[in-house]
Amino acid sequence: MAFEGLAERLQSSIKKMKGKGKVNEQDVKEMMREVRLALLEADVNFKVVKKFVANVKERAVGQDVMDSLTPGQQVIKVVNEELTSLMGGEQSKLNTASKPPTVVMMVGLQGAGKTTTTGKLANHLRKQHNRKPLLVAADIYRPAAIQQLETLGKQLDMPVFSLGDQVSPVEIAKKAVEKAKEEHLDYVLIDTAGRLHVDEDLMNELTQIKNEVKPDEILLVVDAMTGQDAVNVAENFNEQLDLTGVVLTKLDGDTRGGAAISVKAVTDTPIKFAGMGEKIDQLEPFHPERMASRILG
Ligand code: GDP
Repeated sequence: MAFEGLAERLQSSIKKMKGKGKVNEQDVKEMMREVRLALLEADVNFKVVKKFVANVKERAVGQDVMDSLTPGQQVIKVVNEELTSLMGGEQSKLNTASKPPTVVMMVGLQGAGKTTTTGKLANHLRKQHNRKPLLVAADIYRPAAIQQLETLGKQLDMPVFSLGDQVSPVEIAKKAVEKAKEEHLDYVLIDTAGRLHVDEDLMNELTQIKNEVKPDEILLVVDAMTGQDAVNVAENFNEQLDLTGVVLTKLDGDTRGGAAISVKAVTDTPIKFAGMGEKIDQLEPFHPERMASRILG
């Protein structure tokens, strides 16, 4: 499971705090020293850790904890609330267009799970919300990408829009939106090209698509296993494209969890979904509160 190491360490410092009838500043300091180390080891961004620790200390050393009946548990509650708020607080839903179709651009580096997530999201929209999506193959550079999306479309029994690999992605995206309008489809999910690294050509192409189709949602798909890199990638994409949401994939792996905890704080972009496996139904709306409780036990 993701976060195993982090959860274990946090839970052990929490245990020490739990039974305490009285909590003094020294106790809070000691606990936060452990929490700080655990977060840094889980690859949480150091600025994020610093702010988090300061927030908890300020609240935990305040009157409401010291005077409460179970100060130990009160401190834990503060940690839980701050961790939840760090990961975005309330659950963030997908934006929807006032008039369908809602246009979603899926962006991200190669291998992050963009194409798979496009299929998963389509499946989620139909299953949970009874919506009709159109999958759009706009990654014309990776040889197998179009084929991969078509296979997903067949598996889901959903339409896939493709114009092969000789038409520009901007044109493909534009035509796809027209088609969705004609056929009264609710969502257009555009699987854009990825690269191994963030580069100017990629960003130019994505910006052109954005300007042309004016998406309601630009979702960055990032691999949670890459830790701090995922946060850097998110920062980069956000600067160029002004993202509206993030999907963290591979949270089922043994990720240390740093990305999940830092992305929102660093980029101010909410995590909207989490990929929990390779299968088509392994995509979950991201709930900061549930995630925090899962980490803190
Ligand atoms: P793209 O290059 O970004 O389009 O990446 P793909 O969609 O082709 O995915 C790359 C690999 O990651 C594939 O083997 C996927 O099955 C795998 N993958 C995607 N999402 C997840 C996830 O949430 N969990 C796991 N374990 N694997 C995933």
